[in-house]
Amino acid sequence: MSELKQIGHWIDGKPHGRPVERHGDVFDPATGQVAGKVAMATPAVVDEAVASAQAAFASWRSSSLTKRSRILFAFRELVEKHKAEIAAYLTAEHGKVTADAMGEVQRGLEVIEFACGIPHLLKGEFSENVSTEVDVWSIRQPLGVVAGITPFNFPAMVPMWMYPLAIACGNTFVLKPSERDPSAANFCAELFAEAGLPPGVLNVVHGDKVAVDRLLEHPDVKAISFVGSTPIAQYIYETGTRHGKRVQALGGAKNHMIVLPDADMELAADAAVSAGYGSAGERCMAISMVVAVGDAADRLIPKMRERIAKLKVGPGHLEGMEMGPLVTRVHRDKVAGYVDAGVAEGAELVTDGRPFKVPGHEGGFFLGPCLFDKVEPGMSIYKDEIFGPVLGVSRVASYDEAIARVNAGPYANGVALFTNDGGAARKFQHEVEVGMVGINVPIPVPVAFYSFGGWKASLFGDLHIYGMDGVRFYSRNKVFTGRWPDPRHRGVDLGFPTSK
Ligand code: NAD
Repeated sequence: MSELKQIGHWIDGKPHGRPVERHGDVFDPATGQVAGKVAMATPAVVDEAVASAQAAFASWRSSSLTKRSRILFAFRELVEKHKAEIAAYLTAEHGKVTADAMGEVQRGLEVIEFACGIPHLLKGEFSENVSTEVDVWSIRQPLGVVAGITPFNFPAMVPMWMYPLAIACGNTFVLKPSERDPSAANFCAELFAEAGLPPGVLNVVHGDKVAVDRLLEHPDVKAISFVGSTPIAQYIYETGTRHGKRVQALGGAKNHMIVLPDADMELAADAAVSAGYGSAGERCMAISMVVAVGDAADRLIPKMRERIAKLKVGPGHLEGMEMGPLVTRVHRDKVAGYVDAGVAEGAELVTDGRPFKVPGHEGGFFLGPCLFDKVEPGMSIYKDEIFGPVLGVSRVASYDEAIARVNAGPYANGVALFTNDGGAARKFQHEVEVGMVGINVPIPVPVAFYSFGGWKASLFGDLHIYGMDGVRFYSRNKVFTGRWPDPRHRGVDLGFPTSK
């Protein structure tokens, strides 16, 4: 017990020193052993973090854009310098392989780079002479204390979708990362402090529903960004908005990849295997269902099997590994349960990853890649978000049938179309009811200067995350109408003001 790593909160620019009432286990997914203990915040600890953020807000919101931007540039340099260390935390607690973890940090870094441009991004508007000698102008101001609640699958990147931009806009921030892999959030908060961020501007509290519920009802928290599963996203949206907060809550997904018969099948097979099994399928933009049109499945599946057979699955820190373990034993068993259900429901299991073991790591949360053919819409493996290395192929006769399948789904995060037919691609672009669309690109996560967000049950709220939607979410508009006093303006007029 004594040698286990202790992971505490980060409040007011330093580690929180108070005794911890509750702990949670943090596992090494590759061995199955408990590797650390994370503090679980009580409402009183959350209140301390919010109070620190509230106290820091007055001076942070008044700090110059140049100062904010310089601190962000310094933070960017530190994240770049410590990329490998951040990635090592991700591999140790989440399980993802090193190359994937490095990619995660890189995509988070790109949002910091976008936030470095805050002097440009926050520019207001000005209209001269909207009426005779009357001008109108607008500025965007921060909201106050903003909270972020994030999922286990991107412990560095998803928080970076939020706090760099929120802080750049002049807000102060309380982050509640996933309790499953909490260390990267603390390390990045330390780097931000080293970059010159004043105490209290970024706080990290660890914990579960207890901490989240306190953030949702705290009167000084003005906005909540959430990323996680759909039922919790809906709960966060409903509870947060009921407490008068601005909320964006990104939920789960079930992403389709349509393959038309004219597609480059080598490319499609590479894409389906990469996007289906990357990060062991624990990505909200993972492909989980390939919808193969006409004879595409007959040509695609053998190519996918070949590639799956060559995948290197093992502990994420080992050189050359391509897929690591799942995050917890409970999750691993739940995913394996879906494979059992798929077989029972009549789908054809082409590749069975259930017996897979890593010699020397028998206690690890590993599941080999699983591939189903002949998956039908009524089956649980078609309907549910499995969030593991389970990929299904569903066969349809036509493009119309394929797009009807996609548009009938309750989730609408990502989708991809593989084809060489420009006309079909353009039709798809127009018709598909999904927030992020890939054309011959299987994981269309938008770059940092666009915004990320799904439709339907994949997003509750109006604005997507990061990009200009992020700037809009973390700031509010103030509009001025002004004129310099002039004798011509004198005289009482009870009419409603109109332009002259
Ligand atoms: P989760 O919903 O279980 O947890 C997300 C966060 O909510 C965590 O910080 C957790 O502590 C907190 N939480 C969990 N249960 C809660 C409750 N009852 N009340 C209040 N807070 C609670 O999600 P997860 O398992 O960590 O992450 C995987 C899910 O996240 C998948 O569904 C995935 O699709 C989704 N996800 C979505 C996106 C996106 O951008 N749409 C990105 C990444 C992950």
